[in-house]
Amino acid sequence: MFEAKKPGVMASLVAVLAGLLGVLGVLQYRWIGTLGEAEATRMHRMLHLSTTGFAGAIYEPLGRLQERFLLDPGGGEAALAERLALRYQQWRASSTHPGLLSALYHVAPQPDGSLRLARFHPEAGTLVPLAWPEALVPWRVYFAHVGEAPVAPATPPGLPVPLLPRSAADRPGFLLLLLDETYAAETLFPALARTYLLGGDNSDYDLLITAHDDPARVLFQSGAGSLDGSPDATALLGLGGRVEVSTRSGNNEETLVTILRSDSVEVSDLEVRATETERVLVGPSLGSRAAQGASVQPWRLEVRHRAGSIEAAVARWRRRNLGVSFGILLLLGGAAVLLMVSARRARRLAAQQMAFVAGVSHELRTPLAVIRSAAENLADGVVEDLAQARRYGALVDAEGRRLSALVEQVLVLAGAQTQTPPAREPLDLAPFLEGAVARCQRTFEQEVPIELRLDDDLPRVRADARALEAALCNLLSNAYKYGDGWIGMEARLQADAGPPLVALTVRDRGAGIPADELPHLFEPFFRGRAAREAQMRGSGLGLSLVQNMAEAHGGRVDVESTPGRGSAFTLYLPADV
Ligand code: ADP
Repeated sequence: MFEAKKPGVMASLVAVLAGLLGVLGVLQYRWIGTLGEAEATRMHRMLHLSTTGFAGAIYEPLGRLQERFLLDPGGGEAALAERLALRYQQWRASSTHPGLLSALYHVAPQPDGSLRLARFHPEAGTLVPLAWPEALVPWRVYFAHVGEAPVAPATPPGLPVPLLPRSAADRPGFLLLLLDETYAAETLFPALARTYLLGGDNSDYDLLITAHDDPARVLFQSGAGSLDGSPDATALLGLGGRVEVSTRSGNNEETLVTILRSDSVEVSDLEVRATETERVLVGPSLGSRAAQGASVQPWRLEVRHRAGSIEAAVARWRRRNLGVSFGILLLLGGAAVLLMVSARRARRLAAQQMAFVAGVSHELRTPLAVIRSAAENLADGVVEDLAQARRYGALVDAEGRRLSALVEQVLVLAGAQTQTPPAREPLDLAPFLEGAVARCQRTFEQEVPIELRLDDDLPRVRADARALEAALCNLLSNAYKYGDGWIGMEARLQADAGPPLVALTVRDRGAGIPADELPHLFEPFFRGRAAREAQMRGSGLGLSLVQNMAEAHGGRVDVESTPGRGSAFTLYLPADV
């Protein structure tokens, strides 16, 4: 009753465990999903902050450069040149990026509507007029339309600085501060990129800076990442700027925008004003309303995550985490199943051992009872004639042998489990088998003939003769016990595939073995249903001993059985050739 309940309890335990693991799996999945979304948001915010920092850090020196050259144009060209020389020296001395300024021009509107260009020569401190060079034509067009708020050209990059008129008739014109793009590309961008976008938390990003008006003109590129697909962040760089970082989580798309521009508010340093949808970064005050209007953005920045995009990186992160957590759950489940299986095995072994003790005791009881009653009869003087005394002697001897055989079996099993290698010697099979079969036959209670068929060219085998005889006798005794009074034994050489083997087969024509019992046949203490129900004598040790012996000799044992028709057990041993 107790045993019958076990599988039910076990099944519900397994079901509860599987259910728990399932719930845990779902929770883990959801949890990692939520974490993934939070991670994506965090990455977008961080990238937005870093990109804004980068754009601001480019804005800052340009703003200071423009501010430095806001000056009083009064006193004619010589006075202007003098002031320019002074400002130029101050700029060189104070700027962290003096190399950013490549050339300085004065653009003066003429009464006839034309624009006169003069270049400032810092060494001589003079303004020297010159014809408009081809490269500066876009700037001439710009200055010609300055009243219509045109877009400043991106190539060549420069900063226009208006010179404020002193009277309505005064038309002092502009300064054009040309920027050194090589310096920006080789010194300014790499240094700022390292500070804002390529270190620490952002080390997984690739950067690309191109000319605003020509995306094919690459000024700076970090990493060899692919440039396909939309970037995670874009920014227009220059005096002022616009930073955009797009987030796509699920169906939602959010774009964080920061606009950098000079403002009429008097502030001396960069500060951030936040509104709900848009952040406005207020630049250094330029003190000039005209200058504040000028938005010069010669460069464009793209930032991409190395995984393709932030979403792809988060998806990868999610997959990795899901893999690890499901791996752990699987391990947990596997360990629980293993634990259950081994607990079941241990219980079965314990039950088998109990059955073994009961079987052995039962086996001991019968011969002991016979020996004791024979001894009692002899002691009581019931036996009078010699013939009867001989019969008693023979009976005691036979039962004594059975006891010895049983004890021997138990000892052999114990010996096999200590793994002592068998003492092997070359055996001539034909004489050995004839002797062994005859000796075994004598242990049968009733005489049953054994049909022996041996091949002529049997090779020798290297074996422990005692162990091999015990194993064969086990098979023959089983054929005797479970057969129908006929036993066959064959020995043949099997050399068709692999190393040559000698096959020793014991056949019977008994009831056979049910298919569900076949896998357990060689387990120690296993006894078939029919054997148990018919209370056949046996301990369930015989076949496990046969298998132990076969394996210790480098061989194996096989069984073929057809219920109702009989069984055949074959012992394979390596031939000694
Ligand atoms: P035992 O014979 O002592 O029970 P064994 O280990 O020799 O133990 O055999 C284990 C079981 O295998 C037997 O209980 C029996 O059910 C089954 N068995 C073994 N040999 C045969 C056979 N020749 N025919 C049918 N059943 C067999």
